[in-house]
Amino acid sequence: MTDLPVHAASGGPTSPLPGHTATLSGPPTATRGIFDADLLSACISCGFCLPACPTYALSPVEKSSPRGRITLMRALEDGRLDPDDPTLQEQAGECLGCRACETVCPAGVQYGVLLEQWRDHQWRGRHTPPIVAALRAGMHVRPALRLGGIVRRATATTGPAQPGKPHLMLGCVESTLFPKVSEAAKRLVSEADVPAGQGCCGALHAHNGSTAGGERFAHALGATMRVDAGDVILTTAGGCAAHIAQELGRDSVVEISEYLHRAWTADPSRMPPLRPLLVDGRPARVGLQDSCHLRNALGVTEAPRALIKLVADYVELPSAGSCCGAAGSYSLLQPARSKRLLRQKVSRAQAADVDYLVVVNPGCQMQLATGMRSARSDIPVLHIVELLAKALD
Ligand code: SF4
Ligand code: SF4
Repeated sequence: MTDLPVHAASGGPTSPLPGHTATLSGPPTATRGIFDADLLSACISCGFCLPACPTYALSPVEKSSPRGRITLMRALEDGRLDPDDPTLQEQAGECLGCRACETVCPAGVQYGVLLEQWRDHQWRGRHTPPIVAALRAGMHVRPALRLGGIVRRATATTGPAQPGKPHLMLGCVESTLFPKVSEAAKRLVSEADVPAGQGCCGALHAHNGSTAGGERFAHALGATMRVDAGDVILTTAGGCAAHIAQELGRDSVVEISEYLHRAWTADPSRMPPLRPLLVDGRPARVGLQDSCHLRNALGVTEAPRALIKLVADYVELPSAGSCCGAAGSYSLLQPARSKRLLRQKVSRAQAADVDYLVVVNPGCQMQLATGMRSARSDIPVLHIVELLAKALD
């Protein structure tokens, strides 16, 4: 049991941080400069975020909550915790980075940025989890997968970015494992080009302890996609959309469900003929798994639901907005916790008797397709553009 207090807005200690290994009662001894001071001080320790946190639901102890993690960050920052403290390493990895805590926080705490700053410090040198090191070197993963016959043929590019067009981003995971998603996106947004020479957006790096890598890749992508000239990056990955928005500005990126919903609502004549999707002669029942970053960081929730309703009966699944356990590297770093979250998702989709489960992020697609296979379920997991493309056929 620790003696680290969680301070209430009044400044008084309210509860301990159970399971902690270090002595934390001493006065601050340093300012390490790991975190942005204003962001770190914003938390008022009200605890409103606790019920929103999926890891707190799995392990209802303070250290596994957003408030508990911010307490740990503060102790790291001011020298009350040694950077080698095992609880720091444990909790930096146990957080999903889903940012659900931000949506309910009355103080506007930017938890996602704090987590990036924490991992940037925590996951260095010998403290870098091997899986994280491999993911940061993601540019080397694709050739390995290609040799293993896992990579599918990526969508063809169309040359340099053409001024004024939306520029479809292929994405590392998607171009490697789900090229049909990009093909479907091209069919639905015929005005988009697919610029050559586009690389990773850097989300993977930023979420895995390499802030500099996250910034560098995002800005390189922005240059390829003519963002400085006012053009917009069109992405099919909610996680990439949030990272690009953070690095290059919200106007530089549009996620495909918000693009289609916006375009078709503003001018219905732009919407192609879509036939209703039928299963056994009745309208298909379709559920959705939100992308955490699309929902929690960018606030896009209505667009994918509205698009599904154009072609099928939409079924709101319980906790569609909470994390599926994919969370970037989480399914590799924390497989047991990731599977617990995944099993809930699969069983809820099965209980709702949906015919399709739709996603708006390739990491979720990979995770949920794996979960369906493990559960011997035949519910297909489709990206929203794959579902809509079926209605074009
Ligand atoms: S992160 Fe926000 S909601 Fe959570 S304890 Fe701090 S101020 Fe309250
Ligand atoms: S990012 Fe998600 S898992 Fe991490 S503290 Fe916030 S709500 Fe919990």
